[in-house]
Amino acid sequence: MSEFKPVRGMRDFLPEQAEMLRSVEGKARRVAELYGYKEIVTPVVEPYDLLSAKAGEEVKSRMFLFKDLGGRDVALRPEFTASVARLVATTLRNEPKPLRLFCVGSIYRYDEPQRGRYREFWQSNYELMGSNRPEADAEVLMLSDALMHQAGLKKHAFKIGHIGVLRGILSQERVDEKIQNAVMQLMDKKQYDDAVALLEKSEIPRRCTSLIQKLVVIRGTSVLEVADRIKTLVEDYEQSVEAVENLKEVLGLVSESGCKIDLTVEAGFARGLEYYTGMIFEINIPDLDIAFGGGGRYNRLIELYGGEPTPAVGVAHGLDRIMLGLEMHKTPERSEERKTVMVIPTKDELSGQALRVAQLLRMAGIPAELEIMRRRMVKALEVADKRKTTFAVIVGEKELGEGAVVIRNLSRREQDTIRIERMAEYLKCHT
Ligand code: AMP
Repeated sequence: MSEFKPVRGMRDFLPEQAEMLRSVEGKARRVAELYGYKEIVTPVVEPYDLLSAKAGEEVKSRMFLFKDLGGRDVALRPEFTASVARLVATTLRNEPKPLRLFCVGSIYRYDEPQRGRYREFWQSNYELMGSNRPEADAEVLMLSDALMHQAGLKKHAFKIGHIGVLRGILSQERVDEKIQNAVMQLMDKKQYDDAVALLEKSEIPRRCTSLIQKLVVIRGTSVLEVADRIKTLVEDYEQSVEAVENLKEVLGLVSESGCKIDLTVEAGFARGLEYYTGMIFEINIPDLDIAFGGGGRYNRLIELYGGEPTPAVGVAHGLDRIMLGLEMHKTPERSEERKTVMVIPTKDELSGQALRVAQLLRMAGIPAELEIMRRRMVKALEVADKRKTTFAVIVGEKELGEGAVVIRNLSRREQDTIRIERMAEYLKCHT
């Protein structure tokens, strides 16, 4: 039989990586707490109908889709937003607004595996439901920036746009919604020429395609100035002008908040998911061509799921990519140096006493491992040393008779005989 391996695109997290993942997850949870987002836990498997309702062709074609044993069409979640929107449209429909909800967990997409792109990956997701105000958009940008800082990323930058700029033009020119969506997806992949070619095929006026060609090259970090340039270009399109005004309000609020977010406005910026209706953004690190997070406003999704019309804005961050960014910038997410203790009996008959000593340590809040391979003392100490254990607590007959154990600092090769009741205190004070 050939050797077993994880399924393509899936990975094992060994202890060090697992610890790093959980640590980044902890930071995401802390940000949720600081901004008032309550955590909810939703199923990994959801009805295919729910997930496909507004997912966009791209995401739909990459779902892990299957029939369960009851014949239901289900899929592994390719995002959290659909599950949160389902809840807000049903169980949480009468909850007072705004609702701030946080999720963290694994996500599944049949993406082509490469560095930073997996088929099982982790996201932290924040949804702010019930407010159409630009303050809500600003909050989601600010909490994303806070997470990047908390996680320890240094050079992250935000790309921001407004889906209403392009949609406003295409709707006024009566471009069919399906074609609009296809254009947005091409733009998302920066295939601007293909997007324009598709529009030309759908016979929209030449001045409109040339306007779009002009827009896609407009970008800059003097955000309000760039927004004004966009506004001048789209002045004949009412909805597009409104969109720029809205974007300017959001940008103004972020600036007033004192939060120094590195922002670039891009007029031709689009995102693959079809449900966006307003401000959209993505977080990048300049020398890495992958997104660390993305989000935006989607005001019609809850309604689409049968709920009350509920404006909403949200963001998802890629935790695997945050980990990758930390590794690349050599600022490994280090957990505090932790003391580790190995309890070793000097002979087999003292195993029960060793269990008791280990238990006393744990009850005092000190993590303790027990030597359970019945190794001889010299070998056991050697193994403990190799595993970078800080202390060995040696349970021997003579010391036990005096109510004591020997505590050995493995790197310093020093040891003391300590009374059992003082053991925890000693370990806490010594390094
Ligand atoms: P999206 O919902 O597509 O905006 O994704 C939000 C974030 O999830 C992205 O910005 C990435 O950081 C992360 N992400 C998306 N797809 C993958 C993937 N296949 N592997 C790892 N991370 C991903």
